[in-house]
Amino acid sequence: MSPVTDLWKRVESLLASVERPARYINREWGALHRPDAAYRVALMYPDTYEVGMANQALQVLADRLNTSPEIAVERVFLPWVDMIAAMRAHNVPLFTLESCLPVAGCDLVGITLAYELTYTNILEALDLAGLPLRAHDRTEDHPLVIGGGPCSHNPEPMAPFFDAILVGDGEDAVLEIVAAHRAARDRGASRAETLRALADIAGVYVPSLYESGPDGMVATDGAAPRVKRRVVSDLGAYVSPTCPVVPYADVVHDRVTVEVLRGCSRGCRFCQAGMVYRPVRERSADSIVRDAVAALTCTGYEEVSLTSLSTADHSQLEEVLRRLARRLEGTGVAVSVPSLRVDAFALSLARLLGGGRKTGLTFAPEAGSQRLRDVINKNVTEEELLATVRAAFGAGWRRVKLYFMLGLPTETDEDVAAIGALVSRVLAAAREVTPGPERGAVRVAVSVSTFVPKAHTPFQWEGQLGQPDVRHRQAILRDAMPRKGVDLSWHDANVSFLEAVLARGDRSVADAIEAAWRRGAMFDAWTERYSLTRWLEAFAEVEIDPVERASEPFADDQPLPWAHVDSGISTTFLLAERDRALAGVTTEDCTFGRCTNCGVCPTLDTDIVLAGGERRG
Ligand code: SF4
Repeated sequence: MSPVTDLWKRVESLLASVERPARYINREWGALHRPDAAYRVALMYPDTYEVGMANQALQVLADRLNTSPEIAVERVFLPWVDMIAAMRAHNVPLFTLESCLPVAGCDLVGITLAYELTYTNILEALDLAGLPLRAHDRTEDHPLVIGGGPCSHNPEPMAPFFDAILVGDGEDAVLEIVAAHRAARDRGASRAETLRALADIAGVYVPSLYESGPDGMVATDGAAPRVKRRVVSDLGAYVSPTCPVVPYADVVHDRVTVEVLRGCSRGCRFCQAGMVYRPVRERSADSIVRDAVAALTCTGYEEVSLTSLSTADHSQLEEVLRRLARRLEGTGVAVSVPSLRVDAFALSLARLLGGGRKTGLTFAPEAGSQRLRDVINKNVTEEELLATVRAAFGAGWRRVKLYFMLGLPTETDEDVAAIGALVSRVLAAAREVTPGPERGAVRVAVSVSTFVPKAHTPFQWEGQLGQPDVRHRQAILRDAMPRKGVDLSWHDANVSFLEAVLARGDRSVADAIEAAWRRGAMFDAWTERYSLTRWLEAFAEVEIDPVERASEPFADDQPLPWAHVDSGISTTFLLAERDRALAGVTTEDCTFGRCTNCGVCPTLDTDIVLAGGERRG
C-alpha cells in the first residue's frame, strides 16, 4: 500500500464522525492531479474549505503554477475544530486535497496572509502539519513556508513563522520562487543559502535577513534595505482561470469569478487595498468576455461575478455587460458586480445585471456628515445618495444596504448622530417614491464597523478609538437611528480592537500570537470561537499592552513597523493626504491622466496597460 493511500484511508475513517465531510474529500470537478510531478506546492488558505475555496488569489496562483507540467499544486485548508480534534487523536497530519499527501512532504507550502484574524489558524495548520512554528527551527528536511497576500504589507507580526513572504502580485513571482528553490536544491544549497537566493527575487521578503534596530528593521547579508512591492503591469497578459475547481459542498461564493481590474484610484484615506494595489490596471472587454464564457462552459456554474475593488469604475463595463448578456442569453446565467458607486450609473448597472429581478443594492457612504466624508475622501454627497435611493425605490427596489464606520479620525458625537439623521432621510426618500400599499416593505439595512488604522494609508499614524469611546458612540448611534424600517447590525468592536493590535504590530507581537494560539485561539474571525479574554491573557503573558498598541498614535518621525516594506506610495504623499484629511480637503480620483502624485507609477519598471490598450508610464 502506498503512503498516499494509507493516509487517505486514515482520513476517510474519521469522516463519519465530523461535520461536513465534503470539506475533506478530493477529486472535485476541475481538480488537477499530477502524481509524478517533480515539485509539489501546497497552496493553503488558512480557514475552512468553504471560505478558502472562494479565494480568487488562490485560484489564480494555482493556475499560474499549473502552467508548468513539472509542478503539482495541492490545495490545503484548515479542517474545522471537530476534524482537528479527530486528526490529533489519531495522529493524522494535515493533508493536501489533491493527493492526500502530508503537507510536510511537499517542497513548498504557500500560505495566504488574508486577514489578521486568521493568524492563529496559520499556527494551528503548521503545527497540525508537524512543521516547527518558527522558521529558525526548520531544517533542510522541511518544506519552505512562504506567505503572501494583503497582510504582507505589514509582515512583522507573522514574520518569525515564515521563511519568506511575497509582497505584491504573485503571477510571475510564484514561478520565480519555485525556479529559485529548485535551482538551489540542484546545486545542493543549504536552507540559509536558498533563502538568501529567494531574497534576490523582486518582492520577496526573507524575515531572517532583517534585524530590529533603533530606526526599524535593518537588512543584513546584502538584502535590500526596503522590499519593493511586486506589480504586474498588464493584467490582460494572464488568462483568468478558465477551468477552476468546482466544489462538492456549498462554499461562500459559489460561482465563476473574473477579476476585471486591479487597484482603485478613488483614494479613500482609510482603505489599505485602495492604496497598496495601485495603480489601476484593467483587463480588456475582449479578455473578460472570453475568460468568463470559457469558465462558465468548463464549470457549468450559473453565475459569474466580475470582481475588483471598484468594478463600476472599469472603463468598458457597459460594453462587457452588454456583450455578456448577448453571449449568455437563454442560458439562465446571472452576472453580478460586487461593488457599486453611489450614482445614477449604479442603478443602470443594477438594471442591466438584474434583468427583471431587483437584486440587492449596497452602498458605502462610510460617514454620516459631509465634513467627515471629506476627511476620509469619500467623494459621495448626500444629494447623490438620496437621488440614487429615490431612483431605485421608484423603479421597484424595496431594500438598500448602507455601510458606515465608527471611530474615523476627527469623528465627533455630532458626526455619529449624523449617521442616524442620514438614514432617516434615506428612509423618507425611499418611502416618498414607494406606492402607498408597499411602503411597509421599505427597509434600510445599516451595517456599522469600527475603524482600524492600516499600514500604507494616510491614516497609518492614527491610533484606534478606545473601547469606552466606541461604546459611547454606539449608544449615540442607537439613539439616533429611526425605530422603524431599519435593520441595524454591528461588526464586533472587540474583534476590530484585536485587528488593530495585529495590523499595527511589530515583530514582538508574534510572541502574543503564539501565546494566544497555545491558549486555544483559532478561527478568531468566527464569532462563536473568538475570545477576547484569551487574547488579553496572551498579551499579559508576553508583557504587551494591547490597548496602547491599538490606540497610541505613531509620531511622524517614528520608524513604523512596516517601514522596510515599500508599497510604492511615497511617505510624502501619505503625509500630505493626512494633512488634507485633517483640513477636510478632498483629493481627486487619479484615473486616466489626473495623476495626484502618489508615487507608485514612476517606481514601476514597465508601463501600465489599461483596458483600451493605452499605456501609462
Ligand atoms: S502615480 Fe499618479 S496615476 Fe499612478 S497611481 Fe499614483 S496618483 Fe494614480
